Amino acid sequence: MAQKIDGKAISAAVKARVAAEVEVLKQQGIHTGMAVVLVGDDPASKIYVNNKKKACAETGIYSEEYALPAETTQEELLALIEKLNADPKIHGILVQSPLPRHLDEKLIVEHIDPNKDVDAFHAYNVGKIMIGDFAFLPCTPAGVIELIRSTGVEIAGKNCVVIGRSNIVGKPMAMLLLHNNGTVTICHSKTQDLKSITARADILVAAVGRAKFVTADMVKPGAVVIDVGMNRDENGKLCGDVDYAAVEPLASFITPVPGGVGPMTIAMLMQNAVSAAKIQNGIAVN
Ligand code: NAP
Repeated sequence: MAQKIDGKAISAAVKARVAAEVEVLKQQGIHTGMAVVLVGDDPASKIYVNNKKKACAETGIYSEEYALPAETTQEELLALIEKLNADPKIHGILVQSPLPRHLDEKLIVEHIDPNKDVDAFHAYNVGKIMIGDFAFLPCTPAGVIELIRSTGVEIAGKNCVVIGRSNIVGKPMAMLLLHNNGTVTICHSKTQDLKSITARADILVAAVGRAKFVTADMVKPGAVVIDVGMNRDENGKLCGDVDYAAVEPLASFITPVPGGVGPMTIAMLMQNAVSAAKIQNGIAVN
């Protein structure tokens, strides 16, 4: 039977650490601030934005929300980002994706000051992650590393397999495991004989976006299994990429969905906001 990795408890500990750092900065006259920009009225995005605002309040981070109509033009959004780039009260800028189709998401992200890019999606920050000289880590992969660390299992020297190669999860996830000296394999939809690769993984990270995709025969007994997926099953219930009931008996550690990776993503975003406030005030980020 696997030990469940409690993402809620671990994220609460990260947020408590962040709150303490926010307080120390306040005593130095720096009030960490974040702007969250939402364009349109996608219901899931609204929930994410509310959760982020709630996490800001919990950690003592000042937050501003910009809820813009779906018909906002590219010029209007770029003008807002320029205003926020120049605002000394705002250390982190987050533009909630997905954006309405008429807006060029890549261009918008590239417009954010890299020092305020708390999602770490700007090409500058992506490049910094590649060379291992980073201040911000992309939130979901950084949260996964915290979860693996909580198990006490060393990443160094382990066979790590990541299923998925998206720019926001799979690729940076693989890079962070590599920086932690894992031996990393990235799998994707064109991978042949996926099962034979995943079955060798000591640490398996699933970021596919398909309900219950990872079955028991794909998992090495004793593996650490991290489920990034957020899907709906046939009954409309939230579930991950891993068939939890089938995999849990043979893994050593496993994350549930919900309550695993999800809460960590927001906690790491708060961590990035503090790092941003430090960078902009010439304070070393540890
Ligand atoms: P994505 O951009 O759709 O990427 C999915 C990846 O899975 C792609 O690289 C794709 O390969 C690969 N894939 C698809 N079918 C496959 C198959 N049959 N065999 C092997 N690989 C396959 O998704 P994403 O943004 O990375 O997100 C992945 C999941 O994580 C989603 O469920 C998302 O909701 C969830 N998520 C959760 C959080 C959180 O905070 N918990 C944050 C972000 C995302 P190709 O590249 O070849 O197409």
